[in-house]
Amino acid sequence: MQSPSFHVQHYIGGAFVEGTRRFEIFYPATNEIIGTAPEGRAEEVDAAVQAATHAFAAWSRAGAAERRRVLKAFADAIRAHAEDLERIETWDVGRPIRENRAGYVQRLAANIEFFADFAVTHGSEAYPMDSGYINYVLRQPVGVAALITPWNVPMLQATWKIGPALAFGNTVVLKPAELTPIGAWKLAQIAHSAGLPPGVLNVVHGFGPESAGALLTQHPGVQLISFTGESTTGKIIMGAASHTLKRLSFELGGKGANIIFADADLDRAVAISLRSSFFNQGEFCLAGPRLLVERPIYDEFLQRFIAATQQLRVGDPMDPETTVGALIAPEHLQRVRSYIDIARGTQAEIVLGGDQPDLPAPFNRGNFLNPTIIVGVQPQDRVCQEEIFGPVVTVAPFDGEEEALAIANGVAYGLSAVVQTRNLGRAVRVAGAIDAGTVWINDFFVRDLRVPFGGMKQSGIGREGGHYSLEFFTEAKTVCLSNQ
Ligand code: ADP
Repeated sequence: MQSPSFHVQHYIGGAFVEGTRRFEIFYPATNEIIGTAPEGRAEEVDAAVQAATHAFAAWSRAGAAERRRVLKAFADAIRAHAEDLERIETWDVGRPIRENRAGYVQRLAANIEFFADFAVTHGSEAYPMDSGYINYVLRQPVGVAALITPWNVPMLQATWKIGPALAFGNTVVLKPAELTPIGAWKLAQIAHSAGLPPGVLNVVHGFGPESAGALLTQHPGVQLISFTGESTTGKIIMGAASHTLKRLSFELGGKGANIIFADADLDRAVAISLRSSFFNQGEFCLAGPRLLVERPIYDEFLQRFIAATQQLRVGDPMDPETTVGALIAPEHLQRVRSYIDIARGTQAEIVLGGDQPDLPAPFNRGNFLNPTIIVGVQPQDRVCQEEIFGPVVTVAPFDGEEEALAIANGVAYGLSAVVQTRNLGRAVRVAGAIDAGTVWINDFFVRDLRVPFGGMKQSGIGREGGHYSLEFFTEAKTVCLSNQ
């Protein structure tokens, strides 16, 4: 396939802006250069924040119904560009195109549309007092929102944040991850042609530290930050944002447990585990890379899981048959492989993968790694404690509910978990006791935009989704009305 050449731009105040310095964009599957993007520095960040501030006056007052009209046009335009967006997401991330064709773009549109509707129908509260006063609560937009997103599911992340931020009347400066700038630029083009007023959505590219990311977190014109990324970055942003007391919502790393009890439906358990282990090459904070299997079915499960993993097809992400794509960048591949080396230096055993696939050119230059299964681990091993963010999972046996919970909760993270059992009582007990913002029982990655989403412990601060987004993206103002 002919490599594209994307000339990515900032989007500031309704105009596409070149910027001054540019950085290269690489296709993860071949490491070829597929374009360049501008690095936003103080000048561009200031211009974007100013444009968003200026646009806030009209957008915040437009009313939820008018905003819904505009945002629905944006969502429709996203759907109309589905094929383009599916390919762009693969150029950006290296994820197999078949994943993007399985409803990914519809979800982008739904993220915008859901909150556009929600903002129209939610937000009123009134508290009449016995004395005759009536308190009512106004939900007002906060101001300029900086949305800082990671590279793993970039357009999903962007729309999860853009949807509620704009629907509730804020204006936005989006800072996409430097490794995946194309999708955000394309979304800006689509928003622009769909008639989003200038300055309502701005996109500034660049890096984290000492670049657009850090500049936004310190900017006095930014009132709130919704960030998804690494826990260490979250801590830096919290420090930087403290000087101007910004409102924060963080969705950070994860190290989800996938607990499979002996009474689980084994076929289903294998299928779900395959997804929770290797979806998006394991570059997914919601993944369940710690498989905990009740001892009586451990051997059988492991054997079936290995067999199912061997059926995955690693390679050219644009080939519709491919099920596992490339990791995002050579440095990241190195980092993921270093965990395999760490495991090799312990009592653990790599029963599948651990190496790179043998692929024809140009994919032999890509960041591919065979899905890797490690057994013989101890819960305190680094591979069981640290977020690897790649197609590398551990499988370990456990005896009984209590031990499963102790292992599952024995990590610093608390984002998500999977529990597989046919025993309803056990499912309820374990789901209640596990440290996770989201627990899926007998399933994985079902996302309902109405429910709270976020993490416990080192996995985040705050929740987004439904009225949790309403709370984060609006100020509550109480008005006390006298009856005199
Ligand atoms: P990931 O490795 O998953 O991309 P990061 O936390 O490194 O996670 O990056 C997530 C996003 O945060 C990216 O858009 C990145 O540019 C941005 N970022 C990284 N460091 C900082 C920082 N110090 N301040 C603001 N944004 C940052």
